[in-house]
Amino acid sequence: MMSMISEEEARRRVLQSVHLLGERAVPLSRALDCFSAHEVVARLPLPMFDNSAMDGYAVVASSAGKGARLQVVGEQAAGIDRGLRISPGEAVRIFTGAPIPKGADAVVMQEDTTRKGDEIVVTVGVDPGEFIRRRGCDLAEGQKILARGERIRLTTIAILASQGFADVTVGGQVKAAIVSTGDEVVMPGKKLNQGQIYDSHSILLQTLVQRCGASVTLAEHCPDQRERLIEAIRRGIKSHILVITGGVSVGEHDLVQATLRSVGARIDVWRVAIKPGKPFLFGEAGGCALFGLPGNPVSAFVTFLQFVRPAILKMMGANNLNLPKMPVRLAVDFANEGDRTHYVRGRIDNGTFVPIGRQESHALFGLSQSNALLRVAVGESLKADAIVDVQTWD
Ligand code: AMP
Ligand code: MG
Repeated sequence: MMSMISEEEARRRVLQSVHLLGERAVPLSRALDCFSAHEVVARLPLPMFDNSAMDGYAVVASSAGKGARLQVVGEQAAGIDRGLRISPGEAVRIFTGAPIPKGADAVVMQEDTTRKGDEIVVTVGVDPGEFIRRRGCDLAEGQKILARGERIRLTTIAILASQGFADVTVGGQVKAAIVSTGDEVVMPGKKLNQGQIYDSHSILLQTLVQRCGASVTLAEHCPDQRERLIEAIRRGIKSHILVITGGVSVGEHDLVQATLRSVGARIDVWRVAIKPGKPFLFGEAGGCALFGLPGNPVSAFVTFLQFVRPAILKMMGANNLNLPKMPVRLAVDFANEGDRTHYVRGRIDNGTFVPIGRQESHALFGLSQSNALLRVAVGESLKADAIVDVQTWD
């Protein structure tokens, strides 16, 4: 039997061979899912100044007990700080977000007062500090808001904006080329002849690449012809990574490996002990990382998530290369008596993981119904009701 490389060793070789791209500044509107190139600390506290949490009256709490009558001496709206000051027995009309006048130590809600001319009567008891949002109570100056390599999430964008940053420095964007191969494979939308099938995973891989934050610079289909493949590879290796699907096995029509070697590629990984996805290839040509994924759609999907995704994320500066994990209860037993790490496709329903569809590498429908992968290592035996982590991607 031909030898296989362990999954861990394959991943190690892939990650060792790809390198961090140069950083770039992006406007916040385009920063979602990029990875911060630096640690970012708050340059402004939040709130930036003591301000009112309500529309109402700024008061001195000790002089504003229930039934107190206060003189309204001014008005402070949100905006320019008018530098007002009050003494006991006085109040300033104030609005949400407006700076607190000097001397005031509480805000009474408008609903808890009655106004008569220049006076208000307070109808509730008032505690010091009430309805005042203190400077720095949410975020202190110098506090870390983003780690190096951390993914910029929706809410990260808001906290960066609150600091006055119009853009953020992030890792470089990976440019990816995708080439699908196979004489039988036809692009969706085109006419199909007997014996042909539609290309189901090159669009999936394009979407996955984009989901990782990379851009697709080239996506093309290539028949199983050496000359055509050489041309496609030459075009593809101008990108940072080239993903070729199909044709990586050992059949007479599987030309990818020999063709890659003939254009001077170095092959670092070939055949990995995972199921699905054994015919996985990784190499390098002219500084481009080469991934040969199996033609079977489920294998292509699984090997993309296990090997291509972490490589892209590393190049883009991510500090976490793993897929999101979720603890689930297993609905049934799982045992792996084979010689390859098994990735079982399944569905998480109400916290329970149920295997779904035919667990075969061509079985795309089961994959389409699944939302999680259970990794079962060689020799591992997992019992029903056990709580284990599964990988998710949706
Ligand atoms: P190969 O790796 O070229 O031997 O292909 C393995 C299996 O995957 C064959 O059944 C192919 O028809 C199928 N296949 C290859 N490429 C694609 C594709 N882009 N979309 C769907 N199935 C494919
Ligand atoms: Mg083929």
